[in-house]
Amino acid sequence: MATDSFGRRIDYLRISLTDRCNLRCFYCMPEEGVVWRPHSEILTFEEIERFAAVAVSEGVSKIRLTGGEPLIRKGVVEHVRRLKALTGIEGIALTTNGVLLERYGKALAEAGLSRVNISIDSLDSEVYRRITGGGRLEHALAGLETAFRVGMKPVKLNVVVIRSLKQDLLAFARLSFERPVHVRFIEYMPVGNVGSCSPAKERWNLRETVPSDEILERLAEEGREAGFGSLETIARDAAPGGWGPARYYRFSGAAGTVCVISPLSFHFCAECNRLRLTADGRLRPCLFSDEELDVRSLIRGGGSDVDLRDLIRQALAAKPEGHCMRVGTGRGMSQIGG
Ligand code: SAM
Ligand code: SF4
Repeated sequence: MATDSFGRRIDYLRISLTDRCNLRCFYCMPEEGVVWRPHSEILTFEEIERFAAVAVSEGVSKIRLTGGEPLIRKGVVEHVRRLKALTGIEGIALTTNGVLLERYGKALAEAGLSRVNISIDSLDSEVYRRITGGGRLEHALAGLETAFRVGMKPVKLNVVVIRSLKQDLLAFARLSFERPVHVRFIEYMPVGNVGSCSPAKERWNLRETVPSDEILERLAEEGREAGFGSLETIARDAAPGGWGPARYYRFSGAAGTVCVISPLSFHFCAECNRLRLTADGRLRPCLFSDEELDVRSLIRGGGSDVDLRDLIRQALAAKPEGHCMRVGTGRGMSQIGG
């Protein structure tokens, strides 16, 4: 079992399949002027699978595919099938904007994908269009329905809460009544949108981050006014199988839950269980640190599986104890793999 220098068990690998995307969320990716990594710098599926096999032999049992938008990468279904076949894998998950899920959901489920997080920051089609630079809400919602239909479980929604957008949080709570969906309200983070070299169009600003406690207060108050009943805390061991640090709540009688993820207001580094592999083949011990290890050069330079194993151990040793509220990273979420 892999543990880092602080005794944390590291069993979760997030893999970014691409730095490209079919949407342009303003806080993540600019509409124009973005510099894509050349295809030759992106890890092939074969290279990712070789790395993943070594990571699994080192104790990783959970893999999440992300990006950029992972579903725009051709061959993703077969990739899932091969990852799922690795001995020791407990589950494969996907984080997606959902736009292509209606098309690929069934095949992905058959290939062994069971868990999906779909990012939808607003249930108002006009607000959604503005956030995503022209995206159509009905496509993402069709993806959500497909996830239910093909039996994915759990199905989660990622909602980045940004103050000036004045998102209707209660609309998501209402959805959690109707469908067994877990809505995760995420604090807006200073990742890749702080410096002049960052990909995002908007500069991150602390005033735009809504702390999780404020989100919970708003939900409880607006829920009460709407006659939703009380917001109950769900104990960790009864929470719907999360691999991450979400805190779960439920309006009494709801089919699903609402959750908060608080990278800024609540230090959860002590529970960190993950490593990240970027699309261009860098192993990143911590989201908030720009320290990366070069997997791609090692593989392409003829490195052995033992060399890869040593690199993973170096990454574990390099995992910092916490991010110390560091503001800003050189690379954006779409490049790192959000
Ligand atoms: N394209 C896929 C999607 O949108 O789900 C996967 C990649 S995206 C980078 C993964 C998640 O990171 C999304 O839920 C997105 O909203 C979130 N994200 C991106 N930038 C963020 C930021 N600055 N703060 C908080 N979450 C962010
Ligand atoms: Fe694309 Fe996801 Fe970034 Fe939006 S958050 S631009 S969907 S990678």
